[in-house]
This record gives sequence, C-alpha cells and structure tokens, in this order.
Amino acid sequence: MAADAQGFPVTRSPAGVARSARAARDLAVLDARVSGCRACPRLVAWREEVARVKRASFRDEDYWGRPVPGLGPADARIAVVGLAPAAHGGNRTGRVFTGDRSGDWIFAALWRAGLASQPTSTHVGDGLELTGVRVAAAVRCAPPDNAPTPAERDTCSPWLARELALLPDLRVAVVLGGFGWTALWPVLAGAGYALPRPRPAFGHGVEVTVSGPRGELTLLGSYHVSQQNTFTGRLTEPMLDAVLARATELAGTGGAHQGESGPPRP
Ligand code: SF4
Repeated sequence: MAADAQGFPVTRSPAGVARSARAARDLAVLDARVSGCRACPRLVAWREEVARVKRASFRDEDYWGRPVPGLGPADARIAVVGLAPAAHGGNRTGRVFTGDRSGDWIFAALWRAGLASQPTSTHVGDGLELTGVRVAAAVRCAPPDNAPTPAERDTCSPWLARELALLPDLRVAVVLGGFGWTALWPVLAGAGYALPRPRPAFGHGVEVTVSGPRGELTLLGSYHVSQQNTFTGRLTEPMLDAVLARATELAGTGGAHQGESGPPRP
C-alpha cells in the first residue's frame, strides 16, 4: 500500500477502505490507515481547505487536516460513537472530539464516569488517557455543515466496523445522536449480530441489547454533545452522566469520579 508524505498508507476508494480495514491487524495499524484515507473526494477537499484557510483564532496552528482516528485502549468494554470531527476541532487537533465545545462536554463526562484520566482534552500529548472506553466517529472526516452524505457514511463504515471488531471485550456502545445510531446498525449486521425488526428508533436513554458471535452488546442512545443540544438545554450534564453511568454499570467498569464536577461550563 502506497504511503503519503507523512508515511500514512493511502486508501482512495470505497473498495479500498473495505479491503484495508478488514486487513488491519490491530488498532495502531487501523489508526494509521484511517489517517491516510482519501476515499471521499468531497470530504478530502473540505478538510484540507479548512486546514489551509484556518479560523483566525487558530491561524498559528498546524491543522491535522486528515481523517481522525479513534481514541482509547483495545481492552475497552465501552465504545462511544459520535457523528464526525468538527472542522476546527478534531480536524485541527487530530484527536477525536478534541478542540471544541463538544469535546469539552464528552471528556468531562467521561472523567466524571471514571473513564478518563482528566476532565479536559485539548491536544495530542496533553496527558489524557482513557480507561475502559474507546471513542470514535461514524465518519472520520470533517464534513461541510456537519452533514456527511449517506454515501460518505457507508464508505467510511468499514473503519468503524473493524474498530469495533478489534475491541474483543466490547459490551456497550453509547451512541451520540441519530446519525451514529443509523450508521451502527449495518455495522452490527455485518458483524453477525441478530438485530431487532423494526429497528428501534433513536432517542435519549433508549437501550437495546443485541446478541452476536461475541455475546451481548447493549446500545445506549444519547443526544449528541453538539452545541445545538448543550446550549439549548436539550442535553444536560445529568442526562449525559446518567447514560454513562448506565454504560459503566453494564460494562462493570469506571465509576471513579462519580459525583464530582468537571471543568466550569461557558
Ligand atoms: S470519511 Fe472515512 S472513508 Fe471518507 S475519506 Fe474520510 S476516512 Fe476515508
């Protein structure tokens, strides 16, 4: 597989994504392959344009400008699945959910749930470590208007499918928002899970358990940590904490910082 100037293996087509993801033997290999992906022309153009033009407040930073891989250990029992990186968040910092208000919310909540070593995630190398949880996005490139197309979602899905397959202890998937909820079902079907029909509708607090070759997996729905939800009060800290508390209960992990407060909210 050809590598780009930074040494990441390059994937240029939907079929290539499927092949490359399937053959990734561990998360490190998968993360490198994700980082070199160029299979969606519209998203590649957008992420690189954003990285070149930059937001004025970040003009002195080098943007990542690539697909954003997941974060967290291979023995994670919980996966958190979001939508896609933000143009000036993950697309800038190179770490999932990092560098914008959405990340402030999710990492503070993960810390309160005992799944993160610190309540903030600001940049790669800031000391953050996740325990028992892997955080990833359904689509790995920042999309215009935070809206990937169904075709882009489907092209990207083998990366998520392989990521979940490389978590042998996975028991719970916390799905942030309806986009991730929709994206996850075909991934689970492809992994051999028996899925309910009709497919359960997304909602905050919805809980669905499915069975597959590796045992049971419980999906927990949560409103996305987007500013549209957190600024309007549609999603509150107690609501998010309740979902993560249920996740840690089901997974038998976390819980170290329950009841403590995270960083101040704007
Ligand atoms: S969205 Fe996914 S499949 Fe498309 S270019 Fe980005 S990483 Fe590749």
